[in-house]
Amino acid sequence: MDKRQTWAGCGAVAAGIVAAGAALDAARARRGRASLAAAALAGAYLGGTFSERSSLFGRVARMRRDAGLFALTFDDGPDPRFTPRISRILADRGHRATFFVLGRAVEQYPELACALLDDGHELASHGDDHRLLAFAPPREVRRQLARTEHAVRAATGSPPARLFRAPHGVRSPWLVRTVQRRGYQVCAWDGAVFDTSRPGSQVIAGRVVDLLAPGAVILLHDGDGSGGGASREQTVAALPSILDRAERAGLRSVCVSELADR
Ligand SMILES: [Zn+2]
Repeated sequence: MDKRQTWAGCGAVAAGIVAAGAALDAARARRGRASLAAAALAGAYLGGTFSERSSLFGRVARMRRDAGLFALTFDDGPDPRFTPRISRILADRGHRATFFVLGRAVEQYPELACALLDDGHELASHGDDHRLLAFAPPREVRRQLARTEHAVRAATGSPPARLFRAPHGVRSPWLVRTVQRRGYQVCAWDGAVFDTSRPGSQVIAGRVVDLLAPGAVILLHDGDGSGGGASREQTVAALPSILDRAERAGLRSVCVSELADR
């Protein structure tokens, strides 16, 4: 299911809930009670699905606010055009990051996955092929996890960290529980940087700097989950100023596993 179909499907579910409430009110000749309840339920459904920090559909990983530590995260890679440069910039300055990799990309570039570990970073799961999981049954969620695990293990000899970030952060009511049963925590992020919209490296850096704080989890991208091969050059270019500002604020990026409150 692509992005547009997912958005439309979730909208249809919410509209269906609201319509059911209205129909119930009409059938019982009551004014508004079922409609109100249905509107609240529809709102909760949309919040649980799209609000990445919402715990309505299950607990997402919480971060400790340890002084001096935050976490840079990079989704959708590895990509030979950007991942190695991002990895080196971070490692040369003593920062570490969590890379939420796609199984299919790791299969294609296993050497990049190994290089990330060599630079001290962490690999975590972003699923296999970046399909959106708002309507995926539990067996499909498990398949996405298993394929990524297999790819990472085949490339590096060890499994990914037990952290999962759903593509676009979109969840179903059963997704969190399904990944937890496989031993994973769902990882959200703070704020909205939208580096994939390519607003310019200065804008990207500015948005990240506004979010810098102990325990913050910053979402950036080293690949293109859509498979379209979009450039992440601006993200690479933004990184040195982000690190400058973090260091001036006494902050060092560490892997999410180090920050997560278990
Ligand atoms: Zn993604």
